[in-house]
Parts: sequence; C-alpha cells; structure tokens
Amino acid sequence: MKPLVVDKDRLQCEIDEFALITEAAPPVVTRVLFSEADLRGRNYVKERCTDAGLTLRTDAVGNMFARWHGTSRQLPAIATGSHIDAIPNAGKYDGVVGVLGAIEAIRTLQTAGFQPRRSIELIIFTSEEPTRFGIGCLGSRLLGGVLSLERAAALRDRYGKDLEFWRKQGGCPGPLDSVKLAKDSYAAFVELHIEQGPVLEAEKLDIGVVEKIAAPSTLRIQLTGVGGHAGATLMPGRRDALLAGAEITLAVEQAATTTGSPDTVGTTGILRIEPGAVNSVPYKAYLEIDLRDTSVKTRDAALHQIEAAIIEICTRRKIEFTMERLNVDPPAICDAKLVETVAGIASGLDFSVKKMISRAYHDSLFMAQVCPTTMIFIPCFKGYSHRPDEFSSPEQIEKGVRVLAETFAQLAK
Ligand SMILES: [Zn+2]
Repeated sequence: MKPLVVDKDRLQCEIDEFALITEAAPPVVTRVLFSEADLRGRNYVKERCTDAGLTLRTDAVGNMFARWHGTSRQLPAIATGSHIDAIPNAGKYDGVVGVLGAIEAIRTLQTAGFQPRRSIELIIFTSEEPTRFGIGCLGSRLLGGVLSLERAAALRDRYGKDLEFWRKQGGCPGPLDSVKLAKDSYAAFVELHIEQGPVLEAEKLDIGVVEKIAAPSTLRIQLTGVGGHAGATLMPGRRDALLAGAEITLAVEQAATTTGSPDTVGTTGILRIEPGAVNSVPYKAYLEIDLRDTSVKTRDAALHQIEAAIIEICTRRKIEFTMERLNVDPPAICDAKLVETVAGIASGLDFSVKKMISRAYHDSLFMAQVCPTTMIFIPCFKGYSHRPDEFSSPEQIEKGVRVLAETFAQLAK
C-alpha cells in the first residue's frame, strides 16, 4: 500500500458545501430529522458514497449504511459513522466531520491501493440530536437495542406527528423491529468527532482517544401548588411551586457534588413557572434535570438522592408533583484494546494524543452495546459546539481522518 494522503482541500470543500444544506440562513446550520434539509443532506451523502463505490442500504428508522466490501465478506465489518442532523442554530462540524471525514478516509485508502479483507462500513445515524422527538440518538438506540419498540412507537414531535409518520416521510423501509443489530454485526466501531470541549485545544493536542463516555439521565418534574395574589396571600400556608422547584435545583447540586466522583454533573436546565406574573404566587413549576457520570453506580446513587429529595421537599411544602425519568442511559467504557490501537496509530504518526472522557454523549454510547467501540476526537475552537461559530481547521480535521484511515487499514487488513 502506498502512503496515505488525505485530500484535505476536497474534504473542506464538501464540508463547506454541506453546510449550505440548511433550514436557516448560512452560516447557521439547522437540519432537523427528516426535514427537507435533512433529506437533501442524506442525498448529498449518498451521492458521495456511490461515487466512492460503496453499497448503500437504509434501515427502518432511516439509519444509512454505506459498505466498502472486503475480500472476506463473511467476516464482521469494521464500522464508523456519525450524524448529519443538526440542532437549530448549529454549526457545520458536529457529526459531519465523522461522516464526510469517513468517506474521505475510505477514498484515501482506495487511492493508496488498499484492499480491505474485512468490509468497512459507514453508518449515518438517524437523529443523534433530540430536536424532533425530545430523545437523542434515536437511530443508534434502536441499533443497540436500548430503546423499546413501544417507546419508539409512542414518540411524538411538537406537532403531534409520530415516528411512523416521519418514517414514511423519510422513505424508511420495513418494520422497526428489524433495526436492532446482532451482537456480532461488527468487529469494531470507531467514531470521528470534534471534541465539543476545550481540552485538546488548551493542551495543544492533535488527537483525543475516548476511553469512557458519560451517560445522561434526564428527569422531568411538574409541580403544582396553589396560586394567589402576591399581596393578599399571606406567607403562612402558602404553597408556592417555584420555591419547591428552587429547593429541588439546590438538591441537584448537592447530589452531584457529593458522590465522591469528579465526573458527576447535575444541571437543572429548564425551570418554567406559571402564571409568571410579578404579583402572583407561582402555582406551577416545570423542571428538567440532566445528570451525568461515567460510572453507573455513582450516577444512579445521585439520581436516587435527587428523587428522594423531590419527594421530601414536595411533601413538606404540600406541593403535588409528577416525576418522570425521560431516559437513564448506561455509560460506556470503551474497549481498552481498541483504545490502545487507535492511540498507538496516532502517536505512530507523530501526532500528540491524549486518552480522554467524552462528557457529551454520542451514537458511540449505544454502539458500545454492540461491539468494541471508541472515538477519535479532534480539537475545535474554544470547545464551541452547537453554535454557528463552531470550527476545526482543515489541518486538524486532516489529522483525525488520517488516524481513522490508518485504523481502518490496521483493523480491516
Ligand atoms: Zn455530534
């Protein structure tokens, strides 16, 4: 095989072109699952895959698979992939680097005359972002068997349209129960992604190899107290929903800071009250809490502590409440051997490399249920992500693609 040369200019051209496929005015990127922009984006990727001689298939939830057939077709393939959907007001690198970058890695190998023994397969996951249905990683959850078919069928978007409607819209064939992957479907899964955090840039490093992926759990809480005139309702006997909510936010902080693990993080990202008038006692509060950790043990301990606090606070304050676990996902420990392999490849190329934790979650979290998994991170400007000024340089991307291509070469030969 000739030395691998990534065509970084061609890739950058494609990333720039792809960023113009958006529901918002460029440079803002918005591509919500099965929107017109998402469908155009899917076609763009399909064309590039076909040009590279890859065989395409789409599953029942719209995950797309593009396979470069190896000489030993019976062997489990090496898989890679990411997503092309983007939240409202996003940038052009999140997910896209792992999709267009993987196509470039495959073309790089083809140009060098590499012939894989194992097949190499690119997966473009459906709805990594939660915009449409309020749940992230829809495609990879179903691939990993982490989401029940009943829950998937019950998903609705804000207009009340269900997954069945959108599946038809997206032209996804077959029944949903055909999506789940068998355990031996792939020999390995490696996702290329921008870091979405500041570590690599701050430490002037080229490559991060992910050892653990923190898993989120999300709680939704509705509190109902008793409203009233802010002047006429005297303090004794008030049942103020906001005050209960405020105590709950502090209980979240308390739980997240006392697990003994530095990786536990708890956030009350949503707190809405009704009626929301300056002279009225809040009678309703609505909270959503995000709790993450790399260890399921400490994460679940904190989760139970928060739930117990909610019950205690609401009972003491005579507030009616409902609490719902929207998701409780398993954190992933990446395959140690695969992590060593990828880190070794990166240092062999003279790239500076660090093993690290992914604190954002990714489709890899659920692919880890199927096969040995890790991720390749590249630095991004100030760690910015999910905003239009998200940026990684062509050179930074080139290094990530190079490591991915070399990983394919090593694992598929
Ligand atoms: Zn992403």
